[in-house]
Amino acid sequence: MSHIGTAGSGPTESLYATRQKVYPRAVSGRVRRIKWAVLVLLLGLYYLLPWIRWDRGPGAPDQAVLVDMVHRRLYFFWIELWPQEVYFLTGILVFCAIALFAVTSLAGRLWCGFACPQTVWTDLFMWVERLIQGDRNARMKLDREPWSARKVKLKAATHAAWVAIAAATGGAWIMYFNDAPTVTWQILTGQASLTVYGFFGLFTLTTYLLAGWAREQVCTYMCPWPRFQGAMLDDQSLVVTYRAWRGEPRGKLKAEGVGDCVDCGACVHVCPTGIDIRDGQQLECIGCGLCVDACNEVMRKLDRPQGLIAFETLANLAASTAATRGMPPSPARFEAGMAARRPPRLIRPRTLMYAGVLTAVAVAMLAALLLRDTLTLSVLRDRAPLYVVLSDGGVRNAYTVKLANKTRQVEAYALLAEGIPGAAVSVQNAPVDAEGRPLVTTRPDGLTEWRVLVSAPPAAPLRPSQPITFRLLGPDGRPAASASSVFLAPGP
Ligand code: SF4
Ligand code: SF4
Repeated sequence: MSHIGTAGSGPTESLYATRQKVYPRAVSGRVRRIKWAVLVLLLGLYYLLPWIRWDRGPGAPDQAVLVDMVHRRLYFFWIELWPQEVYFLTGILVFCAIALFAVTSLAGRLWCGFACPQTVWTDLFMWVERLIQGDRNARMKLDREPWSARKVKLKAATHAAWVAIAAATGGAWIMYFNDAPTVTWQILTGQASLTVYGFFGLFTLTTYLLAGWAREQVCTYMCPWPRFQGAMLDDQSLVVTYRAWRGEPRGKLKAEGVGDCVDCGACVHVCPTGIDIRDGQQLECIGCGLCVDACNEVMRKLDRPQGLIAFETLANLAASTAATRGMPPSPARFEAGMAARRPPRLIRPRTLMYAGVLTAVAVAMLAALLLRDTLTLSVLRDRAPLYVVLSDGGVRNAYTVKLANKTRQVEAYALLAEGIPGAAVSVQNAPVDAEGRPLVTTRPDGLTEWRVLVSAPPAAPLRPSQPITFRLLGPDGRPAASASSVFLAPGP
């Protein structure tokens, strides 16, 4: 703990604030229903995706989504990426980052409030906690109570359920890197490797700690996103706002001359980060909208218009505030405030810029995917010796030629070397075709390596270094792949 001391014997101020435990209350409403739907969809996808099978033919893994670290492949349904194609992942990450910027500029912290894993798992853990220990008041009472058999039972049941969910989460993560049925069986029967158990334990522990214990502290203190999302927001972005122009001055239901806020505290009690949205925009607000539901419930009961807390643009908030300045609480004030609002401007420089970049990245990725080579040829020239002068005066260079075949078919290709007049090409351990050209074959979904000798005749006009192009011709005679190198010879 740190302290600021004033000169002399003055008071000291702690820089450390003790955490106030948050006890969010259950709430129902439209936003809550949407959040449940998103939660079920995202968790369903996360837990079930590794179990979906996808037939890729014999010898290939049949898991639809798999990061195969051993064979260095990434499988996503019909797409199979090799390590040298990792730029596709970079493209996907760039696309997701720009999409997040675009969503934030349009709808504020939609990601944080609805789809961020920290939010989703914390929501699930809170639901379990509520199910076992009861709603806000019951949990607060339980925490104040001295330890008893009942309290131990309820707390133990809650933590056991959290650990079970965390273990399922850690286990599901492992499945993305291993065959799901096999690794599940291995984990359950004690046959998995230490690495698997290590990562399983790590992800189980982090899920349990982050969603069970740290919760809103992650969003407030650990996550960098709230710090720089301000750069994506403007006064046309939708954010959760309290319409103070309508709610203030707040006061009890029967009080005279007060606004629509009856100061019931419902919006604070449902907030998962424990803040009061009536204090204005705050870094701690994750934009989950649960206070919108809570306040709407109150307004409904009071037979007042809903939307005292709403997803609103700051421009509209300012316009309503200006239009109602000096007006006492009344239906006329409400009408004036609502009439000043305008639909959010979706098309503005920053959203256009994000849309343009998103389109460009999507088109580039799609083009790269559609035009990606399924056969690549690479050539490595021997460095020692650089060349060999043959007994007849000819010159020979040696190369290692590699064929990367990304399909499951086996093909034979004729290998040609162009650029050296009259040069002969021979490949060790390779047959030749009817025209005497060496035939190199591929391996399904793998690399083949061939040792190639190129010999220039004695009379060939050779410089110390000249370009040479290796070309593969398919069975139909069409060029399938090519690669360049150099052919070295003694100086004049
Ligand atoms: S203030 Fe409202 S929107 Fe913000 S975190 Fe709390 S409940 Fe969610
Ligand atoms: S829920 Fe609505 S009425 Fe109750 S305190 Fe919050 S803003 Fe005021």
